[in-house]
Order: sequence, then C-alpha cells, then structure tokens
Amino acid sequence: MTLGKMLEETAQQFPRKCAIKFEKRKISYKELNISVNKAAHALIALGLKKGDRVGILSDNCPEYIISYFAILKFGGIAVPINSFLTGNEVKYIVNDCQVKVLVTSKKFLRTIQPVLAQMSSILNIIVINDVEQNEHLSFEKLLESDKAENIQAEIAEQDLAVFIYTSGTTGHPKGAMLSHYNLLMNVVDAVQVFKVVPKDKFLLFLPMFHSFTFTVCVLLPLKVGSTIVLIGSVKSLDSIKKAIIFDRVTLFVGVPAVYNVLANKPLPKILRYINAIRAFVSGSAPLPAPVIDKIEQKFNSVLCEGYGLSEASPVVSVNPVYGTRKVGSVGPALPSVQVKIVDENLKDLPIGEVGELAVKGPNVMQGYFNLPEETRKTIVDDWLLTGDIAKLDEEGYIYIVDRKKDMLLVRGVNVYPREIEDVLYTHPNIVECAVIGVPDETKGEVPKAFIVVREGETLSEQDVRDFCKEHLAAYKLPKYIEFRTSLPKNATQKIMKRDLR
Ligand code: ATP
Repeated sequence: MTLGKMLEETAQQFPRKCAIKFEKRKISYKELNISVNKAAHALIALGLKKGDRVGILSDNCPEYIISYFAILKFGGIAVPINSFLTGNEVKYIVNDCQVKVLVTSKKFLRTIQPVLAQMSSILNIIVINDVEQNEHLSFEKLLESDKAENIQAEIAEQDLAVFIYTSGTTGHPKGAMLSHYNLLMNVVDAVQVFKVVPKDKFLLFLPMFHSFTFTVCVLLPLKVGSTIVLIGSVKSLDSIKKAIIFDRVTLFVGVPAVYNVLANKPLPKILRYINAIRAFVSGSAPLPAPVIDKIEQKFNSVLCEGYGLSEASPVVSVNPVYGTRKVGSVGPALPSVQVKIVDENLKDLPIGEVGELAVKGPNVMQGYFNLPEETRKTIVDDWLLTGDIAKLDEEGYIYIVDRKKDMLLVRGVNVYPREIEDVLYTHPNIVECAVIGVPDETKGEVPKAFIVVREGETLSEQDVRDFCKEHLAAYKLPKYIEFRTSLPKNATQKIMKRDLR
C-alpha cells in the first residue's frame, strides 16, 4: 500500500463525504482524489519522474494537501518547507535535495525572489491562487486538465515519500527521509490508539509543513474517511472557537503554546457544554501539568500528551484517549513501536533509570538525505537515538526528562532545565518560562530562568527564588532570573532556547 492508494481507497469508500472543509469550501473525497490526479498528471507532463523532489512552500490551504498527494501519486518525493524560513534558508533546502518543481504562493514568491537565481535545480514554479500568473505556472490552470484518472505508477511502499527537514541546533538542517511505509504504519498505529472513525472531525490549524501536523491532522483523517476542518491562519482565537461551536470538531490537535493560551485566557463558559471534542492531543514540546488540568476542566474533555520526532514519522507514543493517562508522561509507545533507554555506551538501562530514549519500529526514517555519517550516528542497529533524555515505568509509559542538548552540568552534576520549568509552571503567576544553562566560573554552568508573568500580576526575583527553594535542591536554583513579556518561539510555537542563549 502507498499513500496515494490509501487516498484512492478512502475516496472509493466515501466518495461524497466531506474530506476538507476550508472557509466556505467543502471538498468531497471524490473531488479531492480527482484534483490530486489532475495535479499529478500535470506534474508528469512537466517531465517529473519517480524519485524527483517537489517542494511545497505555502500557508495552510487545500492546495497544500492536493499538491502533496499529487507528488506522492507519481512517485515523487514531497519536501514540505517551513514557511517561516528566510529566502536563504529555503535556498539551502532546495539546493540540498535538488528540488525540481516548487509549489508556492504569491506571498512566498516574494521571500524567495532575491535568491531564485541561485536555485538552479528548480525547473518550474507553480503558484497557488493566482490565475493571472504569467511568469510561472498557475496551480488552478494545471487543474483544468481533462486527465483525471488514477495514476498507474510503479510505486512500492518502501519507496521514499517525503523529506522532512529538521532545523537541528548546529549546522544546517537535515532531510529526514520517510517512506510510504514509514508514514502509513505510523498512521495505522495512531488510528488504533485514537480510535478514529469516519464521523470524526479533525481541527487543523497548525502549520502543515510540520510532521506532527501532517501525519496526525491530514494522513490520519484521510486514511479513515474523517473530515479535516482546515483553518488557514490563526489570527485570533475566534476561528478556533467557531470551529468548535459550528463545525463541531471532535479531535483538537494542538501544541503546548496553544493550550497555554487556551488555559489562561478567559473563554465563554458555554464552550464547556457545547463542544463535541472527544480528545485534545498535544505534541512537539513538553506540556506543563497545570495546563492539562485547566483544559480538561474548561472543556470537560481529555487532553492526551504524546511525543514524537520527525525522524519517527513522527509519533512515538501518546497517552491513550480511553485508557490510563499519566500526567507527566507522554504515554506508552504505539502498538508497533519499541522503546528503550540506553546509557552513553548504548547499553540498555533498567526501568526507572534515566538515559537516552531509543526507538525502533516501522516508523523510523530511512536516514538523513546525503548524510551517511549522521545517519550511522543516529540509527544504530535499527534503533533511532532520539537525543531525548527519558525514563520508563513498569507499564512502559515514557517520561521525557529533557533534551540531551539542553541539559546542563552544575559542578559536574546533571541538571535538567525541564525539572526547574515544571516547578516554575506551578506558580500561579507564571504563564510561561524557559530555563537555560549559562557559563559560570566556579560551577561550570548555572541555570538561568526566563519568566513571563501573568498580566496584571507582579513577581520579584526574590519571590521566584523563595518559591523555587521550597521545591528544588540548592544547586538547581536559577542563579539568574530575567522577566520578559514574551518568549521567542518557532513556527510550531516551541520556545527557542537557542535564541535565549
Ligand atoms: P529542529 O530539529 O527542527 O529544531 P525539532 O528537533 O524540534 O526541531 P521535531 O522533530 O519537530 O524537531 O521535534 C522533535 C523533538 O521535540 C523531540 O526530539 C523532543 O525533544 C521534542 N518533543 C516532542 N514532543 C515532546 C513532548 N511531548 N515532551 C517533550 N518534548 C517533546
């Protein structure tokens, strides 16, 4: 089975069912499959062949999904590009994997215009929502083609489907190569865990270039025949409130920063009674425990935290919707995924001990594109080394302690910023925080806390110190405290510790 065939099967089973609802548009499964076929035929007519890379650089829109599947259907490799990147950063990715065709929009044409001449692998640019396009190809015109039948291409499930570029902390982004099989298996596992059914409606507002969004909010519903309620960009909470009230979404997929806002902003009480949400799902970064409580209270639903990384297609684990959810844990591994904890010499550690989390399963990537050495360091004997420090409990639930690269050494002792952040988050006047290590002459490194105080409240450095002293050993106390009105975040709303450093 390939991802293209997956869509064809769903379209055959539920032709009239709404696949995507976007603004006033409703696209049925049959219409979606036909548009994908037309776009795939158009890409083939441009001379594209199996294995060719096609970039997508766009805000969320139905054409994003159509392009993605059109690429997969002729055997191409989709390269979703982070829409927050600068022209030069886009150039790096395009040149790295030799993108031949780029699907984009007017807005992003402006971003890449200054570096266009330096991206010589690009043969064609297709522009979404711009029929007047003279210089490049218009996406809408490509869809005018009469050729709408399913593509007959020789694609095996082990063939590559997608390159996801992870930004990495040092050096350049690396392209995690995912096959059809990698993604499909992750979807099959997730369908089982979330018990997804055709009448589910997924709220999609996170950027689609992110692996978490695409697998959970696009591939999952399209596998089952559910509906995607797509929001282009979230300028305020209004669009989300409307999707909850009028579209009756049943699965709300978000990230901690979004839940933090929803938890701390006053919301109409009616939302508690009129929502149809059977589960909130959070991934991509740690979710503070008090936020989980507030969301569950406000919406009378459950919030399931999961964990993953692009290299694992990306879902590794999630707290079950209808089983034991453990706060502080990211749940047990998905059914076909194995996890273990290893020390620096890659020796297995017993239950309860803290070490690096390793993952094995059908969702683990094929490697980093053109980086055999990095691949060898990251996948050892089929185990993916995640770079995350974690521990397991007796029931196999995973507890992420921190990222290996964020850990600091205070007088040679490991200190995990996350432990300090977890304490800070329990303070009623702290809405957001991040702890990093800063160099110190005598101790090697010491913690520094960045804190955002709740609007209308005050907090002094001494208050924070006194509060931390009650919960943390002396060597873990933040030596420096800086108050900020906001913290720097990336496109998926993860706090950018790199920038704070
Ligand atoms: P980049 O490498 O592009 O900077 P990234 O490392 O964040 O970004 P992703 O694959 O998007 O790339 O994110 C994976 C990482 O996110 C994991 O390795 C882990 O550190 C973190 N993460 C994901 N979910 C959770 C979670 N529930 N709790 C804690 N950390 C999480």
